[in-house]
Amino acid sequence: MTNNQNPRDILNLESHFRWLRVRRRTASEWLAWGLWLLSLAILLEYTWSSFVEGETQATVLAGALFFGLLAAGVIVNIMRGVDAQSIHKYRSQQIAQKDDALGSSSEPDETQANGRPLTRRQFIKTVGMAGVTVGAAGSTALVAGSQMLGTPTSGGVYRRPWWVRQVEVPTTGIDWDMMQRVDAARNTLAGNPALGRFASQEENDYLETVRRQNEFNRLTNNEAGFTLKDFALANAFSGTRDIMPRTFLGPRQAPRPEDLGVDRWQGSPDENARLLKVAMQQMGAATVGIVELDERTRKLIYSVDNDGKRLEFENVEHAYEDTEKRVIPFAARWVVVYAVQMSDIAIRRAPTKIAQMATTEAYQRGLMIQNNVQEFLRGLGYQGLGEAELNGLGIAPALAVLAGLGELSRLNRVVTPEFGPMVRIFKLITDLPLAPDKPIDAGIARFCRTCKKCAEACPPSALSFDTEPGWIPIGEWSNPGHQAWFEDSVRCRRYWYEEAGSNCGICFSVCPFSKRNRSFMHDLVRMQIATFPELDELTRTMDDAFGYGVQKDPGDWWDLDLPEYGIDTHKD
Ligand code: SF4
Ligand code: SF4
Repeated sequence: MTNNQNPRDILNLESHFRWLRVRRRTASEWLAWGLWLLSLAILLEYTWSSFVEGETQATVLAGALFFGLLAAGVIVNIMRGVDAQSIHKYRSQQIAQKDDALGSSSEPDETQANGRPLTRRQFIKTVGMAGVTVGAAGSTALVAGSQMLGTPTSGGVYRRPWWVRQVEVPTTGIDWDMMQRVDAARNTLAGNPALGRFASQEENDYLETVRRQNEFNRLTNNEAGFTLKDFALANAFSGTRDIMPRTFLGPRQAPRPEDLGVDRWQGSPDENARLLKVAMQQMGAATVGIVELDERTRKLIYSVDNDGKRLEFENVEHAYEDTEKRVIPFAARWVVVYAVQMSDIAIRRAPTKIAQMATTEAYQRGLMIQNNVQEFLRGLGYQGLGEAELNGLGIAPALAVLAGLGELSRLNRVVTPEFGPMVRIFKLITDLPLAPDKPIDAGIARFCRTCKKCAEACPPSALSFDTEPGWIPIGEWSNPGHQAWFEDSVRCRRYWYEEAGSNCGICFSVCPFSKRNRSFMHDLVRMQIATFPELDELTRTMDDAFGYGVQKDPGDWWDLDLPEYGIDTHKD
């Protein structure tokens, strides 16, 4: 040490590395670092889950954002450390000079910098950072605690996140006066070969021939998704589905209470709703909702079932069926509507036989559940009146909306908050008194106004591009009396036959709500959609930027390690 060197400079050599130490910070600095760490944690989790899901573009982009934010934070910290170090040096020099002048010694006081009154700029910065951090932390906490804060469905079986609000009327309009019961045999394409009555016999024959030719060409060309193993898989499900019992009155095998010498089950509507929903979850239903039948909601039950039999309500004790009609007792006042998940992993490979398999498989499980519920209700001493035909009995999307399973979307199908459109909807009617559910508002129909991704992706342009849903159907396959984005079902079906070589589903798979990725980020986005529509356009743009909505290679499906039924069964 030289005579004119200040000893404190030696003692403060560590000051060269001060940026490494936790130093005294202002409140705004602490908030900024808190926000930084929170963002890093969310991005890391999102990167990891995208990687696990095989979402390459999302992984790369989220990873880049993570490392970018990490690097930015480190650089800012270094710069501030350097800055603090120079201030410290400057003060040390000042103090040393003062000491030399006064012959006394005093420690440099870092708090002097912090002890100054806040300037207006610092104050605004502090408040701003506090707002952002509290907002981000609050959103995180609200997502994390969403199940606790949410409202339970009837029977209290499960809580939905707080942003899935129960409402009195659906988010798309209904005019009950305009609505009439629908003749499903005449006014739907369900169960018809090709286009049914919406085309001439010659055209239907042509479409059938083209479809067979399409399938054969793809099979013999060994096209991914249409190879022999893909055909075998699809046919494994369609063959067995059609031999399972599908009846209005149910299998009627289970012993009734009187067979066991006891009275039938008695419970409050709320208890019964719980009982049934828990049983149905065990049977494989993803979500269950209940609609009470009255003069208005009876209009959602077909007047004529798909097979041409009339569906009538009568003042009888027991339901019955003859060659002409199926009779529902007026006392059977509750429609049980349930969703069965489809494999998004498979549907993201539409249109192929793999995607077709996923649809058929969901129908198969839906039918199995129907049989199980009919037997369960019989065992309790009640009636369960099911779909006697595929998609029979009543209008599935409308009943699902009223039962609170989801909202009517641009697909003219239900999009659920839990699984997006990746569900099939089934229903049955019972005389077991049940507490009804309410429609929901999770911002889905509102988001559809901005999104339009399904309409853009539809190869034959069968979906509406209108911003607002309308009241006037564009064909007799749709019924008046409700507001919807009416689709051109004939155009859609024609595409299946003429080009796709299987049923389609591209529109389902591109929907931003279809993601089954567990990432916390997706919950944040769903919360934003429900609560802050101002960001909907940005959300749609980000969905594209992160590579969502692009069909997966059907060829790699056979190499995947699939969950049961190819479905991730978590609901949140
Ligand atoms: S299933 Fe295919 S053709 Fe039909 S509406 Fe959806 S994307 Fe269009
Ligand atoms: S893709 Fe977009 S517009 Fe279509 S149903 Fe989904 S959210 Fe609505």
